[in-house]
Amino acid sequence: MFFRTYYLVFILSCCWSLALAQNNYLQAIAKPGDGMLSFLRRYQLETYSCNIDKFCALNKVTRKTELIKGKTYFLPIQVAKFNAKNIRASLNISDFNTALAIQKYNELMLAKQVKLKSYKVDRELWVPHHILNCAANKSTASVPKITLISENEVADPNYQQESNPGKRKFPIFGPDFAYTPLLSSKLNGQVFFIDAGHGGNDPGAIGRYNGHDLCEDEYAYDVSLRLCRKLISHGAITYMITRDPNDGIRGGTILKCDKDEQVWGGSRVSTSHRMRLFQRSNIINTLYEQNRKAGLSKQVSISIHIDSRGRNQQVDLFIYHQKGSEEGKTMANRLFKSIRNKYEIYRKNGQYEGTVTTRDLHMLRETKPTALFLELGNIRHPRDQQRIVLESNREALAKWLFEGLTGL
Ligand SMILES: [Zn+2]
Repeated sequence: MFFRTYYLVFILSCCWSLALAQNNYLQAIAKPGDGMLSFLRRYQLETYSCNIDKFCALNKVTRKTELIKGKTYFLPIQVAKFNAKNIRASLNISDFNTALAIQKYNELMLAKQVKLKSYKVDRELWVPHHILNCAANKSTASVPKITLISENEVADPNYQQESNPGKRKFPIFGPDFAYTPLLSSKLNGQVFFIDAGHGGNDPGAIGRYNGHDLCEDEYAYDVSLRLCRKLISHGAITYMITRDPNDGIRGGTILKCDKDEQVWGGSRVSTSHRMRLFQRSNIINTLYEQNRKAGLSKQVSISIHIDSRGRNQQVDLFIYHQKGSEEGKTMANRLFKSIRNKYEIYRKNGQYEGTVTTRDLHMLRETKPTALFLELGNIRHPRDQQRIVLESNREALAKWLFEGLTGL
């Protein structure tokens, strides 16, 4: 794909005017599974709303258009000739910082091997649309309004006031756990989107245990709630993206399978698989933009699942991160090391065979925050089942995730 991209660039630049002409936009081919966001993320363009608008205009599509795999699209990056001396003269611009931003962008694309040669070698500068046209309005994305601010706001607008601890009640955790005292403010200003997998008509994977069905969505939800509560108790701003108002944190081994889950904002979980994924990523991206406008820069999305494999395959916790995201990789590795340390202490043979890898999953590809996708075990394996059916183990899992994600 990179070679083909480069080839196209080559054709463009050898045949057309090499000035910053209107039609001199870089082109690239959509890969299987590409959405607009993942396509633009490869070129680090997706966080600027104006780049998305420009992409739509160039390709005569709307924000809702699905990209067609194998099709060539224009990118909001203009290709210009580098005069071998300096960027300002090459582009006929006067501002030093703008030129520096363009230089940094080209160096980044080279480091990521998205651009194959330095502009000093191939004499081609990539000029992303946002640097010249919208650097000042990075956060002008128009987002549908979601009135609730966060889990914390649902509970109590004064949640950050320690002088008012009696009010820290979060109904989503259920009557026994709603009251969530503030233990520290160490995560103040940090945002966590918790996406418990599946829900609604889709129970996810199903395991059998002592004559009962184990539904993935219920166990993932319980661990997610427990993680969420720990984050809140240290001052984080959190969102449970899938929600079940009449299932709080639950004890016991068998969590009843039900279908009444909702998503943040109160809609039912969509019945279509594809819609269900976009429903979630759209909510997360909307909230992400709102938070960014409010000046919150540290935002993380965590999807929690329990895998289904052969009955004989025990699997440790698998951690997946966004391709191309350094922050995601760092966060994944930190979580991995933390969990491995726990296993050394708590597991008899001390072995931990989890992994950290990238994987082409919607919730990684199409979400704007730094994102991880976790598989907590194999819901069909008897020993993995112990990890989720015992309440104390669900609590321990949540604690390990909390510690590994936050370093607390
Ligand atoms: Zn799943």
